[in-house]
Amino acid sequence: MSIVEQISCPHCGAPIDFKPGEILATCKYCGYTAVVETGQTFTFEHSMIMNRFDLQTVEEPIHGWMSSGFLKPGDLARKSKISEKNLVYLPFWVVSIEVASTYKGVFERLTPAVVKEGKLEKQYDWLVLARKATEFPTREYEVPLEGKIPYDFRKIEGFAKVFNSEVDRTEAVEIAEQQIDDQHKFLLSEDVDKIIEFKSDYKVEQTVYLHSPVWFVNYEYKGKVYQLLVDGARGTAIKGDMPSTGF
Ligand SMILES: [Zn+2]
Repeated sequence: MSIVEQISCPHCGAPIDFKPGEILATCKYCGYTAVVETGQTFTFEHSMIMNRFDLQTVEEPIHGWMSSGFLKPGDLARKSKISEKNLVYLPFWVVSIEVASTYKGVFERLTPAVVKEGKLEKQYDWLVLARKATEFPTREYEVPLEGKIPYDFRKIEGFAKVFNSEVDRTEAVEIAEQQIDDQHKFLLSEDVDKIIEFKSDYKVEQTVYLHSPVWFVNYEYKGKVYQLLVDGARGTAIKGDMPSTGF
């Protein structure tokens, strides 16, 4: 069991539970988000994406995923048993950022090799998962940001779990910058074979703390348990483990 600690909600005074490592904690009685360390109100934008499914209706996208695609066993939908369905509001930071990477590199596919210079400029709403130990394929997940509303605790289902943030805003921005640099270096590998200089300038426009609904589903097929993650806003599969078809 993890140790649970408490602070008082800066808004309604109710106890807010948090676990070691959590940096922001949201009051389940009034929806206020507090900074654990100081006990003060979190002053940045806190948003959420609404979930569209309940424990029954979520079976529809689950079965839809099971019965589509070539790589799955043909009897997957028929023979599987859903053993767990947990709705979790996962915390993310959405870092809206402009990044300009200037680079110099060697293009070695020609003889003689040529030195190329350039600049890569892009704008992102970069998603950073605000949990450290939670396994989640953030890069394969596209948050439907157009459905973003201010965080409203009344819209959180009683059976759902809301995870607190383990990553503060500064760290989230650093993670985003690092991941974007990696992405830019990957994009540059089209253009140069060896990077000799690389530097990025970042302009952070906005950071939003966001809770987004994800269904963590376990299903059993022929005695084994597999996991499927379903986007609670769209009903699409974010990532699904599946039994091998034997080929
Ligand atoms: Zn409260």
